[in-house]
Order: sequence, then C-alpha cells, then structure tokens
Amino acid sequence: MKIKTKLIVAVGTLFLMVFLLAALSGWYINQLKKDTNSILAANYNSLLYTRNMLLALDELPRDPQAFIRFQENLTKQQHNITEVGEREATGAIAAYFEAVKRDPDNTAAKSNIRKASDDLMRLNMDAIALKSGIADQTAEDAIIILSVAGVLCFVVAFTLLINLPANVANPIRKLTASIKQIAAENYRERVHFSGGDEFSELARSFNTMAEKLEEYSESRLDDVLQAKKRIETLVDNMHDPVIGVDEHRQVIFINEEALKVTALRSADVLNKSVTELALHNDLLRDIFKDVDTPATGQQFDYTIKIYADKKQSYFEKDVVDINIVPTGEQALKYIGQVIILKNITPFKEMDLAKTNFIGTVSHEFKTPIAAIQMSVQLLRNDRIGSLNGEQKQLLEGIKEDSDRLLAITKELLTMTQVDSGAIQLNVHESAVVPMLEYAVKANRVAAEHKQVVLQVTVGDGIEKVWADNEKTAWVLTNFVSNAIRYSHENTTVQIRVDQVGHRIRFSVIDQGQGIEPKYIDRIFERYFRVPGARRGGTGLGLSISKEFIEAQGGEISVESEFGAGSCFFFYLKSA
Ligand code: ADP
Repeated sequence: MKIKTKLIVAVGTLFLMVFLLAALSGWYINQLKKDTNSILAANYNSLLYTRNMLLALDELPRDPQAFIRFQENLTKQQHNITEVGEREATGAIAAYFEAVKRDPDNTAAKSNIRKASDDLMRLNMDAIALKSGIADQTAEDAIIILSVAGVLCFVVAFTLLINLPANVANPIRKLTASIKQIAAENYRERVHFSGGDEFSELARSFNTMAEKLEEYSESRLDDVLQAKKRIETLVDNMHDPVIGVDEHRQVIFINEEALKVTALRSADVLNKSVTELALHNDLLRDIFKDVDTPATGQQFDYTIKIYADKKQSYFEKDVVDINIVPTGEQALKYIGQVIILKNITPFKEMDLAKTNFIGTVSHEFKTPIAAIQMSVQLLRNDRIGSLNGEQKQLLEGIKEDSDRLLAITKELLTMTQVDSGAIQLNVHESAVVPMLEYAVKANRVAAEHKQVVLQVTVGDGIEKVWADNEKTAWVLTNFVSNAIRYSHENTTVQIRVDQVGHRIRFSVIDQGQGIEPKYIDRIFERYFRVPGARRGGTGLGLSISKEFIEAQGGEISVESEFGAGSCFFFYLKSA
C-alpha cells in the first residue's frame, strides 16, 4: 500500500472513530435527556397538579378561590394524560369534582376525588419508577457502548502510534545509510523495501543509480588503471633516470634507467623515506639534495657526476614540484616532486673536445702571432730600411689586426682554462688601487684614441678587498675596455669603488649606447653579442668575468638605459 494511502486510511480511521464516539455520546446524552424530560413533563407535572388539586379540595368550601385553583389544575392534568389508566382516573376526578361543585359538602364525592387522586399519583409514581429504570438502562448501555468505542479508538490510535512513524522513518533511515555508503564510493550498496509503496519505488531508483555508478566506476577504474600503466611504461622507457617522491618525501616511483644508474633494486627504494635513503647511499644523498617539503616553488639544476655505463657520466638534475588543484577546491596543493636526471655526458664530452680544440688552436696561434708582431716591430725600425707612407699605413693595419688577434686568442685561452678547471684562484686581501691602475693603464691608449676620459673614484677608507687581484683586474680591464669600445667619442667613463654594507662594489659607468632591455638577461652568456654590436669581439669577455667573480663568491650584474649608457658592476667581500 502506498504511504499516502496508508496515512489517509490511518488518519481517516482515527477521524471516523472519534466521530463515531462523539456521535454515540451525543446520542446517548440526548436519549438520557429525553428520558428525564419525559419523567418531568409526563409524570412530575401530573403529581404536581394532583397535589394542588388535593390542597384546593381541603380548602373547600371555605375558600371560594379553591374551586378555581382545582379547576385550573384539573384542566392542566386533563391535557397531561400520558399513562394507561390516567385518563380514567382523571375522568373520575372531574366527575366527582362536578358533584362537589354542586354540593360542596358532599364528603363522599370528596373522598372519591381523594381516592381517584391517589390512583392517579400511584400511576404516575409507577411510571416514574419505570422510566427511571429505562434511563438507568440507557446510561448503562451508554457506558458500555462508549467504553467499547473508546477502547477501540485507543487500540487503533495506539497501533497507529507504534506503526506509522516506524513505517515512514525506518525506510528513510535505511536509505540515508545507503546514500552514505554510496558517498563513500561503495557502489555495491543496494536497498530493498517490500510492498508497493513510494519507498519501494525510491529503492528501485536508488538501486538503478547505484548500479550505473558501479558500472561507471568500474569502467573509469579500468581507464585509470590503463592510463596509469601507460604512464608507468612511458616513465620506465624514458632514457633519462626519473624518480618521484610524494609530499611526505617518500619515493613513489623510480624508472628502469634510474635503477640502472644507481645500481639499486626497486624494492630497496620504493616507499622508503628520502632522508633514510640519503643516509645510507652517497649517490642518493646527491640526488635527493634539495628535494624538500613543503614546496618552495623553486627548480634546481645541478650537474651530478655518476659512474655509469662503465665511464664517468654527467647528469643534470632537474627537480620539479608537482602541484595540483584538488577537485572542488581552488587552491593549489603540493603533492610531491619529480627528479629528472638528464644525461649530459655526450654534451660534456663534446664540450671538452671543443675546449681542448680551442685551447690547442689558441695556444698554437700565440707563437705565430708573436712572431708577426715581432716582425712588424722590426719593420717599423728605420735601421732595417725606411718605408714609404703607404707601406707604413699597411704596417699599422697589420699591427692593429695582430693586436686584436692576440687579444682574442688570449680570451679564448682563458676560457678554455676556466672550462678545464686549469685556472686556480688565489683569493687574499688585495689592494684596490693597483687593480684600478692596471685596468686604466691597459686601456689608456684606447681611451686616448677615442678621447674618452677615464675618471676613477674610490670611496673613503676603501683599501683592500678579498679577491684574486689578477682575475679581478682582468674583469675590470674587460669592463673598461667594453665601456670605451661602446662609448661615443668625447665622453667620460667612470670607474667607481664604493662600500655597500660588508661588500665593495666596483662599477664601470659609461655614457655610451646602452643595451636594449630584451638583451640584458643574455649579456653574460658565452658567445653572446648584442646584434649589430661593433665587430671585433668574441662575446666571451663578460661570461669569463662572470665566472671569475662568482668563483670568488662575488656577484656580477649590469644596469643599462638604452641610448643613455650602461653601468657594469660587481660586488666582492671587503677585507
Ligand atoms: P665582446 O667581446 O663582444 O665585447 P663581451 O662578453 O665583453 O664580448 O660583451 C658581450 C656583448 O655585450 C657585446 O657584444 C656588446 O654588445 C655588449 N656590451 C658589453 N659591454 C657593453 C657596454 N659597456 N655598452 C653596451 N654594450 C655592451
């Protein structure tokens, strides 16, 4: 039965029962009222009239008004005949009253009136007794019938009270529990309600939904598993070692290549804490260095040396933070990191070969260039023979070119020494002024040639700096040489030394062409030259400067306004 029908039937039955109870009570009360009314109207009044008649009779004949009172009560009694025999008795009273009216001293008639009155009273009293019995019976019937109806109402109401809430609440409770199961992804949950009510219909819809969800989740799980396998295979087949760690710094995956390189088994690494692994394995310590939690948002690039493939191999470490936006949320959540080791050994080998080649070539070039310069020097000497103007000009050209060739060769040689690690730093307390003097002296001719004024300013009290004076002087020379080269004629190049906190800042400021903002970031890259820059350079000077300064623990940078000039500067620790 439907819940709605059930409720209608239950409440309807209760309503009917209450209505029946009220109707029965009303009927019985009415019945009892009728009984008492009939006693009052039919018998009590007759007794009253008879009594009044007897009182009036006693007054006769002394009180003439008594006749009237008797006649009035007699008339009333004649209109109130209700019992069997009452008519006859009343008739007798009326007949004897006629006799008394004619002869007020007729005692026989009076006595007959009394007798008839007596009969009349007895008749009515009997009737009262009888009717009272009937009323009692009605009252008893009412009590029984109303009690039965009341008990019936109570039983029905009690049954409904016990069953009806449970009938509605139990299925809802069951359904709520099942919905919670579905929310917890237990899609096998089903509900079963017997009967054909709304809940059974709801249960059917619920079961259909659960079935579809189950089917969907299984198919999705299948897809997810397949996608997972695909990604695992992909990661496994990558030629670069890849290791994944979760947000708790536990290794969650490691590919074949990483296992090969580290000579470990996956069981030794998987689900192990990074800290614990780093403790027992030097290589893993290097690999997991800077694998941090929580995420810093930084990416690290390192070169790690690993003995792999039966030779020394070089790997560039790249640590990538993995952040996701969880479903239903908006903020990014850090869920781990992926460490990718890029095998850069072939590039390193090529780089080394190139460095060696450049080193050898520049070294081999130095001797012939020196010989050329020597010959030029000799040719310029008048003792060997005088040259005409045109020959002298050609000789000057050869000198300039050989000078430039020598400078380039030296720069290339320095670069190869930096690359191969052949350069040894000698950092100690170095006097500032000699380094400045060296840079100015080395560039004096070029400055004069271009009419550029070199202005040196040293801050008060600055004398010494922690530096390798040779390398620092080289950098300053390079800065000044660039400043002159990229300055306009008749301008000033400032060389400043200032104290900034615990550091000393060396700046070379020119009023030249400046550098376009888009090239600023690349200016310290090896072989980089601003497109359209004056020819003759190698693009190596600034990159070597950067290596020299950073190797001493310093910092190098540039500020430039395109068209207005540049300021190249570096910081070193003050001594
Ligand atoms: P180069 O031998 O070409 O001077 P550098 O490494 O010294 O090589 O400089 C790289 C490039 O930076 C130069 O080619 C030039 O375009 C730019 N540059 C360097 N110094 C200055 C400067 N003072 N003003 C403008 N551009 C400069």
